Amino acid sequence: MTALPRIELLVVQPTPFCNIDCSYCYLPHRSSKAIVAVETLINLFSQVFSSGWVHDCLSVVWHAGEPLVLPVQFYRQAFRTIERLNPAGLKLRHAFQTNGTLIDEAWCAFFAEEEVNVGVSIDGPRQFHDLHRRTRAGRGTFERTITGIRLLRRAGVPFHVISVLTSESMAVPREMFDFYVEEGIKEVCFNVEETEGDHVSRSFADAGIEAAYYRFLSEFWRLSSSQPGVITFIREIEQALRQVVQPSDAPIANQLVEPFAVISMDWAGNIATFSPELLGLKSVAYGDFLLGNINSGTLTDFLVNPNLTRMVKDIEAGVRMCRESCEYFSVCGGGEPVNKLAENGTFASAETKYCRLTKMRAIDLVLDAIERARLCRDGTDGFDGDLLRLPHPLVREPIGSGR
Ligand code: SF4
Repeated sequence: MTALPRIELLVVQPTPFCNIDCSYCYLPHRSSKAIVAVETLINLFSQVFSSGWVHDCLSVVWHAGEPLVLPVQFYRQAFRTIERLNPAGLKLRHAFQTNGTLIDEAWCAFFAEEEVNVGVSIDGPRQFHDLHRRTRAGRGTFERTITGIRLLRRAGVPFHVISVLTSESMAVPREMFDFYVEEGIKEVCFNVEETEGDHVSRSFADAGIEAAYYRFLSEFWRLSSSQPGVITFIREIEQALRQVVQPSDAPIANQLVEPFAVISMDWAGNIATFSPELLGLKSVAYGDFLLGNINSGTLTDFLVNPNLTRMVKDIEAGVRMCRESCEYFSVCGGGEPVNKLAENGTFASAETKYCRLTKMRAIDLVLDAIERARLCRDGTDGFDGDLLRLPHPLVREPIGSGR
């Protein structure tokens, strides 16, 4: 590596424990009740702040286990400790990705006071959510999650939801849309049930999944455009628009293939980079993906870790393959290493089912809409152009990763 890294996102695992047991969860140690030590947080943040690798602002996502199983007081103390380590006053934005089942008034007050960016995982109406998001005893968690969401709304805490789409929910965009509207959910992010770690996606095996995803997003966008102000943010559409509508000489940005743009730390202080999901994974080809431990090493030590050298070589090869073979490269930047590994067995590869769905079909949808709007403007087509009339500006703070 020649240029200094630029850290944009820290994913911190406060505990690997999760109080529920979703069928598509990739976290290998979600029954462990270990908790990150304050010393470990101090070692991480003091090194990050003094590295010179952070430019004006840093997003911190507390995730990779259910963060709310720890008490509010744990985070109050952690936030104050982190503030004291940040003498230069770098702008810090904390985000929590939660299953929502433990949200109560105290959490709502904390989120509001600390201006935490809250993401709640809910997969739509009960029949879709409870299919995969269950307790260890096999009971559905919808009731508890929706109760948490209603508490956030009552307390006026802004939040977004992340919904994992499956073949079943993709088939009913109207039902999904009506659910969000009924529950006052305004900001939605869609993930697709993907093959990752030990989990093999059932949806990916469905031959018609790409067309189904395109149809779902298209109809969901049409519905939200027809009722301005009801759904104010659809991440997949906004991202695709932002990627498509930019100057042709704008740099191709993909933080998931840049070493240290995303740093993930588990509760014990182990450090990984690139896709956050790599933190707990192992593979036959690569072993683990760890660069060292923040309690015994430094960020500059990690720069010369042999695991990093090997990953950089393969990830760069994969990005080159993407550049040479894929017409979406200029808007994608070479995809997500963890999905290349899960589907192709190596980082040094290009296309995946995941990228065909989440990158290609989403970008197709936006390009098709722009083309129809252009034809309409030229008077050669009956399209009414409404699809492009988004209910709010496109530029906003990115929502942290997670599911
Ligand atoms: S869309 Fe897929 S194949 Fe194309 S650049 Fe992205 S990851 Fe590579």
